[in-house]
Amino acid sequence: MAPRSSARPGTLDSYGTTVFAEMSARASALGAVNLGQGYPEEAGPVEVLQAAEAAVAAGHNQYAPGRGIPELRAAIAGHAKAFYEMEVDPGEEVLVTAGATEAIAATVLSLCRPGEEVVAFEPFYDSYAATVELAGARLRPVRLHGPDWSFDPAELRASINERTRLILLNTPHNPTGRVFSHDELQLVAELCRERDLLAVTDEVYEHLVFSGPGASRHERLATFEGMAERTLTISSAGKTFSVTGWKIGWVLGPARLVSSVTAVKQFLTFTNGTPLQHGVAAGLCLPRSRIEGEADRLRQRRDLFCGGLEGLGWKVLWPAATYFCAVDVSALERGDGSSFCDQMLEGAGVAAIPMSAFYAKGSGGAGLNYVRFAFCKSPELLSAALDRLRDW
Ligand code: PMP
Ligand code: GLN
Repeated sequence: MAPRSSARPGTLDSYGTTVFAEMSARASALGAVNLGQGYPEEAGPVEVLQAAEAAVAAGHNQYAPGRGIPELRAAIAGHAKAFYEMEVDPGEEVLVTAGATEAIAATVLSLCRPGEEVVAFEPFYDSYAATVELAGARLRPVRLHGPDWSFDPAELRASINERTRLILLNTPHNPTGRVFSHDELQLVAELCRERDLLAVTDEVYEHLVFSGPGASRHERLATFEGMAERTLTISSAGKTFSVTGWKIGWVLGPARLVSSVTAVKQFLTFTNGTPLQHGVAAGLCLPRSRIEGEADRLRQRRDLFCGGLEGLGWKVLWPAATYFCAVDVSALERGDGSSFCDQMLEGAGVAAIPMSAFYAKGSGGAGLNYVRFAFCKSPELLSAALDRLRDW
């Protein structure tokens, strides 16, 4: 969406409507196949849904405690222990939020003061720039370079200065679908320790990592040496349990930092979604195989869709994780990613997101040539999209 020139400085008016909402609305108006906004069609484990229903029926319909219901905080701590061998105190070191989105906003607003800087890898999720701006801070992007989406260590080092407050890192990564390597996380950890920085990690796709030859493994930055005391880890139930509409997320980390984030959260939403918190608590207590099960289903969809696009001769960057794949459209002679998405929506009836939406304003660079497709849809819908693209 074009920035509004009349926007008052200091407001977010210039952001208009998010690209996800805009593309979903256009896709719906045109009856297009929506591979733009990342959400699955079917909800996840039945135990999760039933636990939320049972909580409504049992009368758990009033305000939850500010930090979240004790059952969910205990389940979040138990999950951190089971998957990452982290010792987390559910009383002091966990905060339940309205999705990862609120966790990110409350974290940035609580930790950053005007004039400070936040380093984030670009392309980045759209809420990062907006919340950093709300805090009066400045986002300093460090580019991930296609086709493998790695960063140049010298560029990361050069981005840090005396105003840097924190590094905001998303792995597994939206929109590229890559998982940061052990060495990359090691370097981030080293810099945080050397320069006394905080780290905030957005790990909402932590359980959507694909197995198979050459598979990546998701590692948690907070488990690296010296990082537990300076990292806030953010995740969400939306992707793990295919319930993106529930908006139950969380932050975990050192008590003093979680307290600062809680102070902000209480004036954003106070508390959220009591019965849904019961559902998510049940989900996090499921056996490991069930929590990781969605990734296998998703991998089959990746193979179907990415293989199909390659069959059309398109240049697809196969993702190691997440709902998303990136396609380089520069050889397809339909302009940049944004113009390509417009033409594909109108001409083929398929919606996707131009990757330029994940770059700082005016800095599209190489990202301008990429388009992001969400393949977290039914095989039938993915095949219908491929048919439409073939005809187009
Ligand atoms: N971070 C990333 C990288 C995302 O892709 C999303 C979108 N789901 C979010 C945060 C927001 O998550 P939630 O829906 O839990 O607010
Ligand atoms: N995270 C979702 C995506 O990247 C969108 C969420 C939203 O619409 N804000 O597609």
